[in-house]
Amino acid sequence: VIVALIDDTKRSLRGARRQISTADAPLAAKLKDAWTRGEIVVLYQPQIDMSSGSVTSVEALARWQQPGGDAVAPTVFIPLAERTGLIDALGRWVLAKACSDIARLPGQLSVSVNVSPIQLRHPGFIDAVRAILAESGLPPQRLVLEITESQLMPEGEAGLRPLAAIHALGVTIAIDDFGTGYSSLSYLNRFPADHLKIDRSFIRELPGDKAAGAITRAIVAMGHSLGMRIIAEGVETAAQADFLQGIWCDAGQGYLYSPPLPVSDLSALITE
Ligand code: C2E
Ligand code: MG
Ligand code: MG
Ligand code: MG
Repeated sequence: VIVALIDDTKRSLRGARRQISTADAPLAAKLKDAWTRGEIVVLYQPQIDMSSGSVTSVEALARWQQPGGDAVAPTVFIPLAERTGLIDALGRWVLAKACSDIARLPGQLSVSVNVSPIQLRHPGFIDAVRAILAESGLPPQRLVLEITESQLMPEGEAGLRPLAAIHALGVTIAIDDFGTGYSSLSYLNRFPADHLKIDRSFIRELPGDKAAGAITRAIVAMGHSLGMRIIAEGVETAAQADFLQGIWCDAGQGYLYSPPLPVSDLSALITE
């Protein structure tokens, strides 16, 4: 009876899983078609260096731009791509597009690209990064790969392994959305990251909220003592920027400075 019960449970679990992918399938097909038609675009949001006030880096952000319609947010279609196995190819495409777009611009701009942990786990990922760098001509020192803290945490030690290989290429690693992932400090010690991006949820409460201020200040101090560069996400007001500058945060990104832009607008902005 117990064996039958277990089998039954396994079957229904498999069924449940199949059901999810069935629901995803038509949307995933739509996404794939949209991508083939060129409806997936990459925008670039400037990061402002707080000491010089200049743009030193940009973050690549994917969009599904439906013709004559609204843009579908990456928070919708990236998880869909992750669930349906499209993320490896789509992620590689975003990376290649970002590297070639930025390599063509004048100056020494760096580019940050968001990477899903599924891509990291793919055995061909490091070779793909190496090939994309070679093809675009972008020096590895100007590429940053952003990995969300909460997505990497469950991977444990195994999740850290590909990061060493990325470093060996000369590419920089940033922890994205820092402060939301229940990170333990000992984990941060073993995590070979170069940049910390403080999550927007803390920045939003600045400068009025005492706790958010204290936490932000502590993240900057801790990051600096670990030799990391600290970037604040979602800077929307001058008061937030002033606070961040006052606690020696290295860079800021947000609507105060610029929304994500098409690459053509970016070249105008950096020559300004
Ligand atoms: P993220 O990497 O944390 O990117 C920052 C998000 O905050 C972006 O949302 C950006 O448009 C938004 N943002 C920037 N400044 C402000 C501000 O001042 N206020 C507010 N309220 N929001 C601001 P977006 O573009 O919708 O991207 C959402 C998330 O989707 C990203 O969060 C990233 O995790 C993911 N994502 C985007 N593109 C890709 C991609 O190519 N691959 C992967 N794996 N993930 C991606
Ligand atoms: Mg990011
Ligand atoms: Mg973020
Ligand atoms: Mg995010």
